[in-house]
Amino acid sequence: MDRLRDAVKEQLAALGEDPTREGLLKTPDRVAKSLKTLTAGYHQDIDAVINDALFTVDYSEMVIVKDIDFYSLCEHHILPFFGRCHIAYIPQGKVIGLSKLPRIVEMFSRRLQVQERLTSQIAETIDATINPQGVAVVVEGTHLCMAMRGVEKQNSKAITSAMHGLFRSDARTRMEFLNLLRLGGEPSMSRAALRQHDEGLGD
Ligand SMILES: [Zn+2]
Repeated sequence: MDRLRDAVKEQLAALGEDPTREGLLKTPDRVAKSLKTLTAGYHQDIDAVINDALFTVDYSEMVIVKDIDFYSLCEHHILPFFGRCHIAYIPQGKVIGLSKLPRIVEMFSRRLQVQERLTSQIAETIDATINPQGVAVVVEGTHLCMAMRGVEKQNSKAITSAMHGLFRSDARTRMEFLNLLRLGGEPSMSRAALRQHDEGLGD
């Protein structure tokens, strides 16, 4: 933590700031703490996250959890990218507690990431954990590294997907999932979620 704090202090000085002025005095501490939180996913392991919430069932219809908010950091600029993740799977004897899916998303978003890898890590983890007939993950992300630097229009979103098993091999299954998502019909972030995001960064 000290090393990270010192690095932030050095960064402020390199930017031409005075790290000893009142407003910046506690900034290195805050940034170091914030970065630790935002990358806490490195130190979590999947078994602890799932915590035995695996159940044997007879059910073999599609399970969908939509609109899971996520916040991550782009590994190229260490700036936030955030949005929503949608997950579907078709069980094969086993299901995973529904509340655990957002935990899996969080575990992989709280790292330095690229959206493509985040998407496939979520899908691969569900695959490996319950061996379903198929799993699909779609991630819609707004990247501040693009929006703030004016590389892209502010409202543009990157959409990535990972389709495994039946979602890859069967077009009807895939279409059913995508129709249920109805992507693009609404803004990717609610105002409340955005505010929460901003407040989180204020620490
Ligand atoms: Zn970036």
